[in-house]
Amino acid sequence: MNAATTPLNIALALSSAGVPVLPLRRGKVPFGNCRSCKDGACGGRPNMKSAGPCQCPAPCHAWAAATTDAGVLTSPVWAAVWREAVAVAYHPGGVGLTVVDLDNAAAVAWARETLPATRIVQTTRGEHWLYRGAMPSSNAVRPGVDIKSLMQYARWLGPGTGRMAVLPAAVRALVVKEDTTPAPGEVVSSLPTRAPWSRQVATGCRHTERYVRTGLERGLALVRARAESGAGSQAFGVARFLAAQHTGCPGPCGLAAIGEEIVTAAVLVGVPESYARRAVANGLETAVERAA
Ligand SMILES: [Zn+2]
Ligand SMILES: [Zn+2]
Ligand SMILES: [Zn+2]
Repeated sequence: MNAATTPLNIALALSSAGVPVLPLRRGKVPFGNCRSCKDGACGGRPNMKSAGPCQCPAPCHAWAAATTDAGVLTSPVWAAVWREAVAVAYHPGGVGLTVVDLDNAAAVAWARETLPATRIVQTTRGEHWLYRGAMPSSNAVRPGVDIKSLMQYARWLGPGTGRMAVLPAAVRALVVKEDTTPAPGEVVSSLPTRAPWSRQVATGCRHTERYVRTGLERGLALVRARAESGAGSQAFGVARFLAAQHTGCPGPCGLAAIGEEIVTAAVLVGVPESYARRAVANGLETAVERAA
């Protein structure tokens, strides 16, 4: 390693560009916590999900230690760590980015087929696709696919190539928050009744009523079948699939009414309404975007 490419020098270059960074040790993972931070004894840092008062000067708490402060990066306690560092990580959410981490060739093939082109960084076995915009992180959203953005770190492997696109709805929809199931009954009664899909709202649709109804019923059944988990992402998929059937119609096709029926089905199996609405809106939008 020459001087310009030591982890510390790479980190300083990134931090001066506003990218929060931290050192990685052998194994390409963050350094462990110091003795007073061990097992979260310190309560954690203020920027963590369970915020605590930790002001530890060492790079403890993984991504939460990432900083753009050159004074911290070159402090004596970090200097000792940099000497053992083998790589640099950054906090994508901290600089308003999302990394779609594709671990293998199959995941890369999926992304090429599904996601809008953007800036790509080659990794050991796969690729990082970078989008402008931050979102909650989540591992294994699909086989071999992790979302690294807020409260996460990603390994820095260079700036990559290609023009960075805005974070698309299709990526946001990969991370489903279904752990906030409300009390049964509560949400169902709060759903306003809206007109179901009918010919009256679909004056420009080239399909028969029977075709649209059958497709919709099939989609709703898929959502209802996911009562245990995954109904939100199923709602997204059903909305996208049904909307795609109408991209050749002059319209209007009553997609809003179709969306409402999907939202209702998802809410009835416990998906929070706001999430169901977002998932369905994203699904409808993705189908339209892709047709455009
Ligand atoms: Zn510490
Ligand atoms: Zn601590
Ligand atoms: Zn149509």
